[in-house]
Amino acid sequence: MGSVLAPVVPTPTGADPLDVLGVPDLVNLDYAATAPCARVAADAVAELLPWYGSVHRGAGGLSQRSTLAYERARQTIGDFLGTRPDDEVIFTRNTTDALNLLARAVPAGTSVVTFGGEHHANLLPWPNVVRLPVPATPDAAVRALGEALGELRRGSDRSAPILVAVTGASNVTGECWPTEALATVAHRHGARIAVDAAQLAPHLPVDLAASGIDYVAISGHKLYAPFGTGVLAGRADWLDAAPPYLVGGGATLGVGNATHDVRWATGPGRHEAGTPNLLGAVALAAVCAALDAADRGELYAREQRLLARLRDGLRALPHVVELRTFGADAPRVGIVSFVVAGRDSAEVATELGRRYAIGLRDGLFCAHPLARRLLTEAADRSGRGDLPPTALRASIGLGSTPAHVDRLLDALAELR
Ligand code: PLP
Repeated sequence: MGSVLAPVVPTPTGADPLDVLGVPDLVNLDYAATAPCARVAADAVAELLPWYGSVHRGAGGLSQRSTLAYERARQTIGDFLGTRPDDEVIFTRNTTDALNLLARAVPAGTSVVTFGGEHHANLLPWPNVVRLPVPATPDAAVRALGEALGELRRGSDRSAPILVAVTGASNVTGECWPTEALATVAHRHGARIAVDAAQLAPHLPVDLAASGIDYVAISGHKLYAPFGTGVLAGRADWLDAAPPYLVGGGATLGVGNATHDVRWATGPGRHEAGTPNLLGAVALAAVCAALDAADRGELYAREQRLLARLRDGLRALPHVVELRTFGADAPRVGIVSFVVAGRDSAEVATELGRRYAIGLRDGLFCAHPLARRLLTEAADRSGRGDLPPTALRASIGLGSTPAHVDRLLDALAELR
């Protein structure tokens, strides 16, 4: 029998732990929606399954092992995100859940400042929100935030809480937002900043301690782990003072007989009532550990080469127009949205799936205000009056190859 204290992250078997699973002949260019599962995540789940037991709720060996695995996963993911010693790492279902949790945890009266370029998950949950227009450049974003915070501070006292909520990388364009500069501006005005890293973390390191970012939200299913696990990490004080996000077993220190006689826990347990998703947490931690051990600079460089191949190829197709917020050369991760002039995007996506076995996304990508704006801008820039009202999005990651990119480019050339 293995030891209860045995490591839960499997030792490498020779295969690259960051290989991803998939189905041969189906070209997956939809990583931004849900990335394929990494081998290391599947191995971690398979290794833990025989030990599967209740988490935080039992004295037996299985339960101890499962509890240990869960808490180790928390630690590993916290390390991956560069958390500070007094940060909390709370397991959620996904980024949407994490941002909703934070939205409920901000102190009463908090003003939230965000931009119109956000995914709905970072646009809709906030109370008291000031939505700034989508800026034309990363520098303009920093300037606009400084001005907005200056104005808010003139109307409030220095201690009134303000939270800036911004994406790390756009799910529509892949463009990276200047989160460190935004954090500096936020802190200069006594505000905090939360970064929606759903699209950033799979491609680039996120480091709370080094960047000064106060909160970060991620989704496991975009980070090569299975569905059902997300994380909110960041400053403990607001989280510990907030009402529990989920109410029930595990969130309490004690419950008396009187209706309201409840002592709520502090720490992650306060917001994690109910039996947690152990396998999801362990799978995500295994990916985080593997990414931490990998040469992320090299992974990024490889992805950038593929992205350049994709964007160059799209640019060479006269009937294709790319969507973008910032300049063509702004830093971005492996996501490109575009339209095929004169063709309905849903029809193109269906045809790519049926005739070419290519999976990508069409629509407005749960970022309706941004996507609509970029479609208008693309029509103006290209001078074409026949652009469709929705777009296509191709996104790449660890398992993507030049052959995948070329298959899309060839198909689009044919579809004309
Ligand atoms: N934020 C961004 C930037 C996203 O791209 C997404 C999903 O596409 C989300 C948040 C929401 O992620 P989830 O659906 O995993 O909650």
